[in-house]
Amino acid sequence: MVVTPRYAAPVPEVLEVESYRELAERVVGSRIRAAEADRYAAARLVAPRAFAQAAVGRRVVGTGRRGKLLWLETDGVRLGLRFGMTGVLLLDGEAGIEGLFYGPHGYRDEWVRASLTLDDGRRLILHDPRRLGRVEIDPSLEGLGPDVIGLSRADFDAALAVRGEGPAVKARLLDQSMVAGIGNLLADEMLFRAGIDPRTPVGRLDVARRARLYRALGQTIRTLRRRGGSHTGDHMMARHPDGRCPRDGTSLAVATVGGRTTYWCPTHQR
Ligand SMILES: [Zn+2]
Repeated sequence: MVVTPRYAAPVPEVLEVESYRELAERVVGSRIRAAEADRYAAARLVAPRAFAQAAVGRRVVGTGRRGKLLWLETDGVRLGLRFGMTGVLLLDGEAGIEGLFYGPHGYRDEWVRASLTLDDGRRLILHDPRRLGRVEIDPSLEGLGPDVIGLSRADFDAALAVRGEGPAVKARLLDQSMVAGIGNLLADEMLFRAGIDPRTPVGRLDVARRARLYRALGQTIRTLRRRGGSHTGDHMMARHPDGRCPRDGTSLAVATVGGRTTYWCPTHQR
């Protein structure tokens, strides 16, 4: 039986990867008996077999995550997992747990890009139709800011600190070196909740608006985790060309901000 993570959105953002990490916690204490990665998943390694060479015989002693990078801590190396646009982590062979994999893309054996077989027969699987998921050995955390889940006010303020006007606030939120884990949907949702125009230069946000954005960030994380993932935001249903703001009925504006398609309400986001 394949055990699915708590939720799997069409595109994995930090909330989905955190649910993958919770799933991976189930294999802590097990030893890795076999490991495989195809040439896509192993694209960052010297060769696909390097994954098995690093992993086999190791015991999983913990899990970790920073932004969208997940890793298994072992008694030797750290095994990193990245999920690209369509990757999901699955756990196969666990008896007594309900839930087949009904993710957004369905399951196919040919989409298994990498796997770890544990000494008890269970199998942890990187399933990824689009082939952008990657395995890594001792992945670097360089260039990753503090994680968005549980981000402190001090770290948030540091991430927004600029000289002069700085970039658009949306671009700054997406900058993984400032805060790790804010993807496109989370950024739009927190700006929607905070009532801030995503194009506003960071340096123009006054104290009150920074406080509002920090509160909205925490609310967004908590609410969307409860609802089931990064695609469950309040403005989500209106993310299309004819979309209207669920608060005030205004037609949403759409533009590329920070390199990503951005929807916002010109009435209550200023
Ligand atoms: Zn509005």
